[in-house]
Amino acid sequence: MNHFEPYLDLLRSSLTKLDGWRNSFDDHNSEDPSEIPSAMAIQKILSELESKLEGNYPFHHPQYAGQMLKPPHPVAWLAYTLAMTINPNNHALDGGPPTSAMEKECIKKLADMIGYREPSLGHLTSTGTIANLEALFVARESHPGKSIAATSNAHYTHRRMCKVLNTDFLEVPVDADGVPDLNFIKNHSDKIGTLVVTMGTTGLGIVEPLQKIKALADEYHFRIHADAAYGGFFKLIGSELASKADWDVLESCDSVVIDPHKHGLQPYGCGSVIYKDPSVGTFFKHDSPYTYFTSDELHLGEISLECSRAGASAAAFWATLELLPLSDTGLGKILLSCTKAAKKFAGLITNQPNWFLYQPPQLDIVGYFKMPEIKNISELNRINREIFQKGMSDKKDGFHLSLFSIPADQFVLKYPDFNPDQSHATILRSVFLKAEHEDFVSQLANRIINT
Ligand SMILES: *Cc1c(COP(=O)(O)O)cnc(C)c1O
Repeated sequence: MNHFEPYLDLLRSSLTKLDGWRNSFDDHNSEDPSEIPSAMAIQKILSELESKLEGNYPFHHPQYAGQMLKPPHPVAWLAYTLAMTINPNNHALDGGPPTSAMEKECIKKLADMIGYREPSLGHLTSTGTIANLEALFVARESHPGKSIAATSNAHYTHRRMCKVLNTDFLEVPVDADGVPDLNFIKNHSDKIGTLVVTMGTTGLGIVEPLQKIKALADEYHFRIHADAAYGGFFKLIGSELASKADWDVLESCDSVVIDPHKHGLQPYGCGSVIYKDPSVGTFFKHDSPYTYFTSDELHLGEISLECSRAGASAAAFWATLELLPLSDTGLGKILLSCTKAAKKFAGLITNQPNWFLYQPPQLDIVGYFKMPEIKNISELNRINREIFQKGMSDKKDGFHLSLFSIPADQFVLKYPDFNPDQSHATILRSVFLKAEHEDFVSQLANRIINT
């Protein structure tokens, strides 16, 4: 089966129509025939590229459950390709009026998903990191002189970005299950301007207890930024999750970051940040002589730290949401399959002698390990690394996992009979980012257990 066949006709017909639009401008004969590259030359280059690309791991296949990686939805790359042939820039409305409008539509849908009822403010970004940087910039401007706090499970870039922003970063300790120390937050509340709450940690998909933290924020008056770069779209199926109460109060956060290029089926280059209070836009006020704002309407570049951004990203996300709306029956169905895959896999692991879950999955990421005979952390690390390596060496019946490193002192809180002879414990980690994982996990678990 040629996986791409059904889409090639669609692409050809859409590109042909778009070419009609190009040709509707008067004939300018710009292309000197001697400058049109020969199809043969391009074919040779593409053929070399194809072989190079085959050096990738099979991100498309359910045997790949390593990192947060999968190909975009076909409608996303079709839409991206069409828009890219024009190459609009969503920095200014004039850089791409239709794709800027699409971006605003997408942001409105994300804001509705979060539960923001009043008009909010937001835009797409190149990455979740840039989106978080903006939210932390707004945090600093909102409470100058105060710290930005996040748990030790938060994405490593928060600490780095606080350095960039020259703002004090306060690390909130967590217990053995990754639950933040609420007393620590209470005791440091006079210093905290904004607390970052991670809704789905990158490591193990832990949803931090937003509901309880919100109660503290109400009492002690700090802001909350939700880093939902990974977990944001799980809001669609919040009612199915143990963390339901936390998803129910997502709308109380001052800002939320969600990465459409993770669970939103988008090609890379698509993050987003949304602020509850649109007046934070004044922090971004700038007056650039190079831009070309020709109307009073909001130009997305006015509220962004980035300048140029691909209009094609907005087109791709817009098209995807037309096909798979932000609802439990649209995009939510995929997330539900992913969580079911994780639960099923966790069950299969628990049923095996000598295999242990590090902790039950909350979303679609599972941390687990094979128990060594000698309970030294160095032995644990050795045998689990070996399984990880072996899986990758078999192309057909192999598997792709990732390794997850846990400070030894944290690991022994859960497994006190281990001798911490190394500083970090290495366990296996699987990210079930694809709906196909739901059917495939039994086979995958078999392959892993029998290595
Ligand atoms: C992935 C991730 C980020 C960083 O996002 P990028 O798009 O990779 O820059 C930040 N926070 C969390 C929780 C993430 O999972």
